[in-house]
Amino acid sequence: MKGNPEISSPQPISSSLQPNQLQNDYSQYQTTNLGNGKQQGGQQVSNHRDIRNYAEQTLGSDNALIQAVKLPQDEDKNEWLAIHIVDFYNQINMLYGTITEFCSPTTCPRMIATDEYEYLWQETTAVNGALPQLPKRPISLPACEYIENLMNWVQGFFDNDNIFPSKIGAPFPQQFPSLVKTIFKRLFRIYAHIYCHHFHEISELGLQSHLNTSLKHYVLFANEFSLISRKDYGPLEDLVDTMLKE
Ligand code: ZN
Repeated sequence: MKGNPEISSPQPISSSLQPNQLQNDYSQYQTTNLGNGKQQGGQQVSNHRDIRNYAEQTLGSDNALIQAVKLPQDEDKNEWLAIHIVDFYNQINMLYGTITEFCSPTTCPRMIATDEYEYLWQETTAVNGALPQLPKRPISLPACEYIENLMNWVQGFFDNDNIFPSKIGAPFPQQFPSLVKTIFKRLFRIYAHIYCHHFHEISELGLQSHLNTSLKHYVLFANEFSLISRKDYGPLEDLVDTMLKE
């Protein structure tokens, strides 16, 4: 892991835009996403960051968590997926960041989740959101290297304006939904590794409720949009079942 990369949601307005462009972007956004000044829970939701803040503020209870993952009326689905994937990336980065000193090539020479599951790294190339054309042979890596590669791989998509457009109303690539599924499936493995091999350290740090809430939010979101198939929950299948039934 390279520190704590600054990731933010796609921003609707760039400071370099001219006033008339701002005007256009703003009205476009209003139409595309949340309607004209529509009130949500008594709050004015007018840009990406507001939506995210609104979501965070509503995560107080389980019921609120279930409501928070639902696509708001008039919100673009891809936009909603994009905002959340960036958020979850940041959460995972933060959670894993707290235990990196305990996850080395010595302690975790392979990216496993229990002895039953090993996740192999497959170097891929993706062009404009397309899934890999020529996958290379999967290789076994220490967990920390696997996770660093995975985070860099996801970061590469965030940095690509053709895949995660920064401009409101700019189209997402056709393959965006399938790319989101692949990213979700892979990021989940980091939760699995933390749960199966670093839960003790997370508990020692007093972060278990953060980890649980983060995972629950993740699986509720994945479930709402059918992003991860059941088998991909691997060793956490029972835990995920419990979280979804609560
Ligand atoms: Zn580890």
